[in-house]
Amino acid sequence: MDQLSVSPTGLPQPRVTRRTAVASVPLNLVFFGPPGAGKGTQADRFAARHRIPKISTGDMLRKAIQDGTRVGMLVRDTLKCGGLVSDDLIISLVAERLEHPDTADGFVLDGFPRTIPQAAALDAMLCDRGGITVVALVVHADEVVRRLAGRGRDDDEVYVIRERLSVYARETEPVLEFYRRRSAVAILDGNRPLDAVTESIEQAVVVRRKS
Ligand code: ADP
Repeated sequence: MDQLSVSPTGLPQPRVTRRTAVASVPLNLVFFGPPGAGKGTQADRFAARHRIPKISTGDMLRKAIQDGTRVGMLVRDTLKCGGLVSDDLIISLVAERLEHPDTADGFVLDGFPRTIPQAAALDAMLCDRGGITVVALVVHADEVVRRLAGRGRDDDEVYVIRERLSVYARETEPVLEFYRRRSAVAILDGNRPLDAVTESIEQAVVVRRKS
């Protein structure tokens, strides 16, 4: 009877402890910004510091390609050309991942949602799991190109970068407006050095939440 206590009626009751009370507000975060904004690095840092999983759809897709799975075969050409994979496919991958119990205290999403239908689907998935906080990193276009060109990933060729940036402007930027109407959104300057950005995220998400 570790997790349960017995009520006067004799029925087992969940034991409410301080820890579960505090942990009951999960840290559900979406890191948002153009390719090269530093989302992935900042998401890694935040997730490690707060012991919650980072869920990167780009990493999931690259792994599927590397492992030669059916999903990997389906998305390989899309990633190579800098397009977006279909909403249905990516939504089902994320929905499945969010069912894993390690997300109960929160998670950091990196690279999802990237379209309005993806954002709407995420809202539905989380309707009974607390709200979402969006951390949007704003970075100058020339800084983005400089960072991506130095990274050397397969889809970091100049013409693919250009395509990814235009897809971002067309499909993904409107998602921020979607969230500004319904969720907490922190818009932060991503041009600054990594540690300064990490600190500002911490301030915006954790310190603000406690106060
Ligand atoms: P970046 O943020 O540098 O563009 P990611 O690793 O997030 O890189 O994504 C790499 C590629 O994976 C994208 O260009 C796209 O083809 C695909 N992808 C990742 N997440 C999504 C998503 N949510 N919806 C559609 N396609 C996605």
